[in-house]
Amino acid sequence: MGINIAVDGPAGAGKSSIAREASARLGFIYVDTGALYRSVALYALENDVLEQDKLIQSLDKINVELKFISGVQHVLLCGRDVSDKIRTPEVSMNASKVSAVPEVREFLFGLQQKIAAENDIIMDGRDIGTVVLPNADLKVFLTASAEERAKRRFLEMKDKPDCPSYEEILEDINKRDYNDMHRETAPLKRAEDAVLLDTTEMTKAQVVEKLISMIEGVR
Ligand code: C5P
Repeated sequence: MGINIAVDGPAGAGKSSIAREASARLGFIYVDTGALYRSVALYALENDVLEQDKLIQSLDKINVELKFISGVQHVLLCGRDVSDKIRTPEVSMNASKVSAVPEVREFLFGLQQKIAAENDIIMDGRDIGTVVLPNADLKVFLTASAEERAKRRFLEMKDKPDCPSYEEILEDINKRDYNDMHRETAPLKRAEDAVLLDTTEMTKAQVVEKLISMIEGVR
């Protein structure tokens, strides 16, 4: 059994960049569970099965795997590396939709638990501390104001082609948060025993140091 660190929080809270850096420094594997939901959304978009019943019927044709190459997560959808393809705003919004389907969550549950059982991991998502790893060694709920999260994402994306405006990013974040917090199955919420880390006024380096010191405390 490895050391399991659960990091949950809303869209754009910096979970992935913080968890990735802390994992690299500690020699842990960083597991981005959002990529799993994004892959199912990509499958649904490409195969025209976004409608809930069609998607549920298609689940036995979907094969999602995670591979870690030099510590970096790659997600394979039916054998194809879709790690880059799943990063579009269209996939983000549809990931939020497909993730509300209980059968989809069930479908991805075992894979997440297996990786956690076999490795020292920092796993990020929305329901890691509440559902996937209720016995995690440490649970952190990472958040920041929606405006700050949108600003950070905008700065990250502004030099890329087709970068959405700050306002579009803020709207997307607010919509996804709303969907994620209000779905019936495994909604986004802070586990009772999770440490709340509000990063609105913190730099990335400060957050990474804080997370590492908390992990050292439970190691
Ligand atoms: O973390 P990321 O933004 O990549 O996640 C994409 C979407 O996948 C989220 O908006 C959320 O709806 C869903 N998700 C989830 N549970 C997780 C991780 C992600 O429902 N553990």
